[in-house]
Amino acid sequence: TVKTGKFDKYRFYNESIRRKLYQEKSIESSMDTALEQKEFKVYYQPKVELSTNRVVCSEALVRWQKPDGTIISPADFIPVFEKNYTIPLLDRYVFEEVCRWLRHLLDTGREALPVSVNVSRLQFYNSDFVKAYAEIRDKYRIPEGLLEIEFTETILFDNWDVLSGIVEDLHKAGFSCSIDDFGKGYSSLSTIQNLNIDVLKIDAMFFPNITTKEKDRLLVEEIIKLVRQFGVVTVAEGIETMEQVEFLRSVNCDMIQGYVFYRPMPEAEYEELLYTLENRKEDIPVQERLET
Ligand code: C2E
Ligand code: MG
Ligand code: MG
Ligand code: MG
Repeated sequence: TVKTGKFDKYRFYNESIRRKLYQEKSIESSMDTALEQKEFKVYYQPKVELSTNRVVCSEALVRWQKPDGTIISPADFIPVFEKNYTIPLLDRYVFEEVCRWLRHLLDTGREALPVSVNVSRLQFYNSDFVKAYAEIRDKYRIPEGLLEIEFTETILFDNWDVLSGIVEDLHKAGFSCSIDDFGKGYSSLSTIQNLNIDVLKIDAMFFPNITTKEKDRLLVEEIIKLVRQFGVVTVAEGIETMEQVEFLRSVNCDMIQGYVFYRPMPEAEYEELLYTLENRKEDIPVQERLET
């Protein structure tokens, strides 16, 4: 048996920190080549509209696919790129990949459903960001209404004048705006008070006990009631069970994003899905569709 005295714990601590730093360094130093080699892949997770049981749009989620095939989750590399301020580069790459893909769908005569793209708050420090995004969109001749920008509420950036100006610029440029992870941040009410957003994504943390926890049910119900009055579309994130779906249906949530219906999937798989759905003439309950 191994004795773990104070010293061993200390050494263990040191080693795990060193390992973490090493990991971060290697993530950091390989980003440029990874971008060049196109190792970042965009996955798409469909969102289902509850009133029709149909896939109406999707979210673009980045993955890092190493040459050896291993896939790294954004939870592991995005914090590193945020720390060293390189995340805006990756965000722009993902956005351009989405535009390229939408153009491909349009060129093949497919119905291209809207896609939402995550943007780090760090992007907002660059005053040219809206213009740059609009230019990329125009380069691929993507019609307005097909692209939505998602950003989170954080304490990092709470200058409401600047933020609401950015939202206005995004609107003028033809993008919809959505607040991601709503309820997880520190400024939820201020966010809906100050920003003219189109979509509110209610964070997954509200839903694990939604069928049993009265407080969670009431919170979600009231949030939805409240923002509906502002004309905001509501999306529930991280939905994994049909009980959760039925609850959300009962409180008039507009859309569901979660494993219960679809996981994030590679481009080709999403294209296949769109093709299948397009060729269905009438609305078919999602559950039924999933079994086929
Ligand atoms: P997010 O924007 O809130 O995206 C939703 C996350 O929840 C995704 O994790 C998605 O795969 C996951 N998810 C969806 N449905 C379920 C479910 O039913 N159960 C569970 N357990 N999880 C579910 P993912 O893809 O790992 O992304 C994590 C986060 O990384 C995203 O959270 C987003 O904040 C960030 N991210 C992803 N792509 C980008 C990007 O291109 N740029 C930036 N800045 N951030 C990104
Ligand atoms: Mg998101
Ligand atoms: Mg989210
Ligand atoms: Mg999240």
